[in-house]
Amino acid sequence: MKILDLVTQATLFLKATSPSARLDAELIISDTLSLRREDLYIHSEKILPPAILSQCLQKIERRIQNEPIAYILNKKDFLNYTFFVQPGVLIPRPETELLVEYALHWIEQQNSQHPLWALDLGCGSGCIGLSLLKEVSNLQLVSVDISAVAIATAQKNAELLDVKDRSSFILKNADEMDFRDFDFLKEKGFSGQLDIVISNPPYISKSDPNVQDSVKKFEPHEALYCEEQGLEKMKKWTNLAGSVLRPQGLWIFEIGSLQGEMAKRILQESDFFENIELAQDYSGKDRFLISHKKQTQKSTN
Ligand code: GLN
Repeated sequence: MKILDLVTQATLFLKATSPSARLDAELIISDTLSLRREDLYIHSEKILPPAILSQCLQKIERRIQNEPIAYILNKKDFLNYTFFVQPGVLIPRPETELLVEYALHWIEQQNSQHPLWALDLGCGSGCIGLSLLKEVSNLQLVSVDISAVAIATAQKNAELLDVKDRSSFILKNADEMDFRDFDFLKEKGFSGQLDIVISNPPYISKSDPNVQDSVKKFEPHEALYCEEQGLEKMKKWTNLAGSVLRPQGLWIFEIGSLQGEMAKRILQESDFFENIELAQDYSGKDRFLISHKKQTQKSTN
């Protein structure tokens, strides 16, 4: 079969389930052939070797089943880089990108000559923390996730992005962590207190009816949903951030667009944080909570 004929036929099949049928067909076929999408048509009359054709057909079938294209191609762009992704790890979302920019803004203001230490809670593919590492040469990153697939994926991305030497990983449920989990970093020069904690926690209520079918069917539920109407993890992780950050350290995390006031209250009630601010994503929706650890209380005796 010729390349062009496969593009045309795949587009027809994909139309039943995908609003971007032609684009999907082009992406799958060009990626399998290791061609740029725009170069597909230069080679449109070429006959596909049987092994490549069968790989393309398998991927097209997965897309017909509504599997996200990022899982089929094993990659997703996030800010300036392409991240390796696979089933079992949340696909990076464009609405998360500004979290990195807000964190960078704060880091630049610090103007620190010393190494800074960042913690990414529920790192998934690693896209948030590793993007920060690429921008800040004196940053050290600790990435935590409950999922072994996520940690393996983040490790692979650290390697692909050439920041492995400044990356550490902890496979653990962040709910169960405390300062002792960071002891092993002392040999890398860690002082015992973090400068930044970042997170895109699970924040969707288990009863939310608005989650897209392909998200529900293919993406890891433990990265999306949690108890207490989606507030459970931000509550627990706020307390963890409060206990491991240095005074004036930054705690920044993603929230659902309607959770702003509730998330603010969680931070106020935890009593660890001040300068609590809501920030918006590219489409102007409330999406992030930014706060700073209070100065430690002076001892009164
Ligand atoms: N923004 C994601 C979605 O709507 C949710 C990510 C999350 O729960 N952290 O699919």
